[in-house]
Amino acid sequence: MDNTKNNYQLICGAEIHVELNTKSKMFCGCANDPFGADKPNIYTCPVCLGMPGALPVPNKKAIEDCILIGLALGCKIAKVSKFDRKHYFYPDLPKGYQISQYDEPLCYDGLVETSYGPVRITRVHMEEDTAKMHHAVVGGKKVSLIDFNRSSVPLVEIVTEPDIKSPEQAKEFLKKVRDIIRALGVSSCDMEKGSMRLEANISLSKDGTLPSYKVEVKNINSFRFFANSLEFEYKRQSEILEKGETPIQETRGYRDGRGTVSQRKKEGAADYRYFPDPDIPPLVIDDSWITQIKSRLPKLPDAIAKDLVTAGVIESAAKIIVNNPDYFSFITTIQTLEPSMVKIAANDLVNKKIDANTTPEDYLKTKKEKAGTKIVDESILKPIIEKLVSENQTLVGEYKAGKTGVLGFFVGGVMKVTGGKADASVVNKLLLSLL
Ligand SMILES: [Zn+2]
Repeated sequence: MDNTKNNYQLICGAEIHVELNTKSKMFCGCANDPFGADKPNIYTCPVCLGMPGALPVPNKKAIEDCILIGLALGCKIAKVSKFDRKHYFYPDLPKGYQISQYDEPLCYDGLVETSYGPVRITRVHMEEDTAKMHHAVVGGKKVSLIDFNRSSVPLVEIVTEPDIKSPEQAKEFLKKVRDIIRALGVSSCDMEKGSMRLEANISLSKDGTLPSYKVEVKNINSFRFFANSLEFEYKRQSEILEKGETPIQETRGYRDGRGTVSQRKKEGAADYRYFPDPDIPPLVIDDSWITQIKSRLPKLPDAIAKDLVTAGVIESAAKIIVNNPDYFSFITTIQTLEPSMVKIAANDLVNKKIDANTTPEDYLKTKKEKAGTKIVDESILKPIIEKLVSENQTLVGEYKAGKTGVLGFFVGGVMKVTGGKADASVVNKLLLSLL
């Protein structure tokens, strides 16, 4: 991002929506499987179709998963929380309101570290997803179809403070949040399918203080697009500010190749006419419930990276592994099956010596087989070493003069001749006796 021309500081906050993978929906017993459904509108009932008089019953597992996400993001957990109705009119919202949380979210005040500085988490709250619109042509007519399989799927919203200052930081932060949630096992975080969706609130400032406006960019479905929208908005907004004007407070959409495009004037909270949902009593969250949820917290990527470093993996490799879901699951399996192999497997992974189709079990088996065919027979190894020694008398002299590092040359030489199959400890022993 070119911010050398003028000294505007990018100020960005993120909103992240994550669909939970609970068995049933947020407020009814319908299956929560919008991506696996064979047909539209098969997982529906009066509650998620928004029929008058239908009563919502909160999904306990979804609430626990939301709290688990909050805990993993370093949040405090509310002692009392409630659900509110957020009103707006759109065909994908059958009740005319979405059940969400307004002023008493389940989780608040968290923090996620990035290498560019911390990003504070304002809140993590629970709500329900909307139905899905499909725009199609039927009988030559343009129509909009609605699929209610997604209506009322449990949706967690994570809101950050405006602490993101660059596209690079945004990418690192978002990836980290995704990896943490995946490690918790509560969502697939699949951005292509839409089980993880991103929004950016972007403004620019000369002195780092929060300006009076912000531009919201919605419907971002990749980390790259998120970073692109920051770059695009930085350029667009700085041009407006240079003219002495203030960018309009509005909602924009991201279009790949075109940057962000204006959609509508931004609603304020007042436009949504929030009020507590009278059908759902407030939630009381006691310490024993939180303790119980906490016990589900697995080791998170940061902690696993530290473990890898302790196991002898270099820090940069450990970071690559925890940030790659495939590597991550591979290495955690190795850690369970054969902890002594973690360092070797980690190096093989980052050096791309392991085929993508190799399972950790296969990998360990192959390694063991190779180890089993190691040449330990001294009558085979001794002549090889003797030949190397006689051919490299200068190095032998250096060794005798105290340069023990030359041993590596001889070990390497034996490995070259034997195709790496010589047993290193036997080679070392023979070398020392011959030298
Ligand atoms: Zn339902």
